[in-house]
Amino acid sequence: MKFGGSSVADLERMRRVAARIAERARTQPVVAVVSAMGKTTNELVRMARELADPPPTRELDMLLTTGERSSMALLAIAIRSRGQQAISLTGSQCGIITDHQHGRARIMEVRPFRIVDELAAGNVVIVGGFQGVSYKREVTTLGRGGSDTTAVALAAALGADCEIYSDVDGVYSADPREVADAQRIAELDYEAMQALARAGAKVLHAQAVQLAEDRGIAIYARHVEPGISGQTVIRRNPVERPGVRAVASDPAIATLDLELRALAPARVGALAERLGGLGLRYLRVDERGAGGLLSLSQRTDAGAILRRFAAITRALGPVVDAAQIREGLAMVSCVGAGVEERPEIPKRALAALDAAKVVIRGVRTDTRSLAFVVAAEHRRAAVVALHAAFIGGPPTAG
Ligand code: ASP
Ligand code: MG
Repeated sequence: MKFGGSSVADLERMRRVAARIAERARTQPVVAVVSAMGKTTNELVRMARELADPPPTRELDMLLTTGERSSMALLAIAIRSRGQQAISLTGSQCGIITDHQHGRARIMEVRPFRIVDELAAGNVVIVGGFQGVSYKREVTTLGRGGSDTTAVALAAALGADCEIYSDVDGVYSADPREVADAQRIAELDYEAMQALARAGAKVLHAQAVQLAEDRGIAIYARHVEPGISGQTVIRRNPVERPGVRAVASDPAIATLDLELRALAPARVGALAERLGGLGLRYLRVDERGAGGLLSLSQRTDAGAILRRFAAITRALGPVVDAAQIREGLAMVSCVGAGVEERPEIPKRALAALDAAKVVIRGVRTDTRSLAFVVAAEHRRAAVVALHAAFIGGPPTAG
């Protein structure tokens, strides 16, 4: 059972989660992974940046893991106060061994001996999410939102199911706060789920879904309130309808368009691959004679991406004919099986955006997704229009 930051944002919610875990523990051994309370991680990042920007990554990891350490200990205390045995453990104590990339470590191995022993001793085991320890014995973090990955990794290591609890009862066809008739999706395959996460839906950590796919772990996304019984199951080969299943958006992206000179198309491709390896998303290359147009877009992160774009442009030096960085943009994505290959889908999307008077500044296709770059102020209208065009639903009042 994994509980995110908003589910344990204050002591009252922490108590409710404790009650839910204790109830479950009456019939089954439980390992619960918990995130930092509320917006704690953001606040810690903010403080570190005030002292040094960027902060040293090792110390930032030390700092950020304290958020999960606080919430795991408080949750264990809350469970014990109900008379149920419980113990909290750090990622390191749970044997979550990672590589040494601070801030975005990958799990290499899980040695869950301590968890197994504590379960055998009758404890509920509460694990601080989002963290591990490297082979060099350094504390590492798995990237923002990484507690999901902790949960999937432990489920795989223990042969358990993975239940992810949050303040929504599953994955929706759009953000229900923005689209009144958004519908819950009963089942999704791993690829569509990953495309949704990449498109900006704040549902599950992309690495968690990848890991679940690699290990064949089904993920059950559920509401933290026991009375709300809906769920979304993410698994292999669900009963899949082709076509757009969901519309997601990324509210703040920047794009870099580069006109490259005198590069053979093959070299442009190699270059694109290298840039893609830097973690840049939505990479697309148009071949244009001997040169090429390279277009990158990335979530804006406090100006960091603009510095990165400038550095990329500088590094490419004389091959760049023209460079243009654009900000104030958003990316709106249609996600589902086959959306990247069926011509009727872009056609319908373009018509819907046109009718909603949304100006399209760029188009990207990716596995299971078709994405439009639009002005940030058109983002919401684009989401609503695309959702209505592909998913619709009962008419809503207001
Ligand atoms: N607390 C971390 C974050 O805010 C990890 C997580 O929530 O999964 O990114
Ligand atoms: Mg979180």
